[in-house]
Amino acid sequence: MQTTLSHTALDNTWGAGLAFKPFDLLGDGQLSVDFSVHALTKYPSGGGDVLMGSVMTRDDTLGLKMKLTHMRLGLCVGANDIETILRSLPTIALRYEIQDKTARALAHWWQAQSVCVQVLHPAISGSLGHDHWRALCAPKGGWGHAAGLFSVMLDPRLTSNQVDAFCDQLEIFRIGYSWGGPISLVVPYNVESARSAWPTGLQKGHLVRFSTGFEAVHDLIADLSHSLHHCLNFEGC
Ligand SMILES: *Cc1c(COP(=O)(O)O)cnc(C)c1O
Repeated sequence: MQTTLSHTALDNTWGAGLAFKPFDLLGDGQLSVDFSVHALTKYPSGGGDVLMGSVMTRDDTLGLKMKLTHMRLGLCVGANDIETILRSLPTIALRYEIQDKTARALAHWWQAQSVCVQVLHPAISGSLGHDHWRALCAPKGGWGHAAGLFSVMLDPRLTSNQVDAFCDQLEIFRIGYSWGGPISLVVPYNVESARSAWPTGLQKGHLVRFSTGFEAVHDLIADLSHSLHHCLNFEGC
């Protein structure tokens, strides 16, 4: 008879090892994962200039298996890239915190804009997944931790061209998919083409994703505000 072992892996890129403990998710040893996987490309690099990943486990047997597999597959990364990551790691907590603060400030600003029908940021109360975030990332209450990544759903009455023009018109935010780097990024998302079904609880509209860099909050808000008024010819904005 063949036995099947199942293991659980978590993509912990968003939490960056700071927002919660992947090997002890609820703090009581009840819920945990076997592997924690990170795109080092994001926060551990912090510069938006390295592509690298990591897989971690606390289990020695699994760790040995992983090392052997790694060796047999012949995977390796460049020494200069490793140096870049190692140099950035000591500042990861500081960078995570400042980008978190900026993202939450922008998410709150968006909540007050009539063109925005929904803010998607797990640390903002009323957002999808907020209770889950609170249980994992702020179990004792308080500010907790979150990545500098959030989305807004813009009014479905806008056209895609208006939304694209809004993104193009931004001067501080660059257009880009990655995150965790020094420059704030924006990207419009087409939910229909990315998902087979419309996600539960998500309002209809145009999704725009932001990731925050190290720019000043007031400059970022001025940029958003300026582009909103110029590109989204929308009553009340
Ligand atoms: C970016 C990202 C990845 C992939 O990382 P790359 O280094 O860009 O290939 C995986 N998971 C999450 C959650 C990411 O954000």
